[in-house]
Amino acid sequence: MKIIKAEYTVSAVKAEQYPQDGRPEIAFAGRSNVGKSSLINTLVQRKNLARTSSQPGKTQTINFYSVNDLLYLVDLPGYGFARVSRAERERWGRFIEAYLNQRRELVAVVLLVDIRHPPTRDDVMMYDWLCYFNKPTLVVATKADKISRGQWAKHLKIIRNELGLKPEHQLLPFSAETRQGREEVWDWLARAAGI
Ligand code: GDP
Repeated sequence: MKIIKAEYTVSAVKAEQYPQDGRPEIAFAGRSNVGKSSLINTLVQRKNLARTSSQPGKTQTINFYSVNDLLYLVDLPGYGFARVSRAERERWGRFIEAYLNQRRELVAVVLLVDIRHPPTRDDVMMYDWLCYFNKPTLVVATKADKISRGQWAKHLKIIRNELGLKPEHQLLPFSAETRQGREEVWDWLARAAGI
């Protein structure tokens, strides 16, 4: 995907703040620190469009980034941060659920997991949740540069098994460091968004 224009649009805390122009949206979900901002920045070829390493668990907004005036990449708040209170977690859940469940512009979801580790309980819960919402889903295994290429297949297999990945869901290794997987992720996003 050739990026002509990429810009931050809005950080929403309620549905009335979502963009109103009807463009397709692709949401990104994953636990804090998994590399979500880095993936978005790599996709749009900008160093700092999505904030990296902002205080984990503090960003409880849904952030919209407009790409080529064609679609939105939507950064969902990271989950699985231990210091977040139960009340906050519940608020997070309701907010995200409403977005995933009711947003008509949402065409697909990308779930990020760390290639180095088996998915956490939260990752498995999130994956099950996405299956329940029945949206096209791509799983991206981040930080692929942190293990040798020869180890990828073994790690991807563990992720596939632990998530119980369905045959219709693809799993792609990705690295923001080397940009490995960027084209493959874009191909998938473009197809999902119909652009
Ligand atoms: P977020 O909280 O999910 O948005 O995660 P960030 O994108 O802020 O990344 C968390 C940390 O992991 C930062 O220190 C990043 O530099 C690092 N990181 C993210 N992606 C990669 C990657 O592909 N390779 C390596 N080596 N580090 C990464």
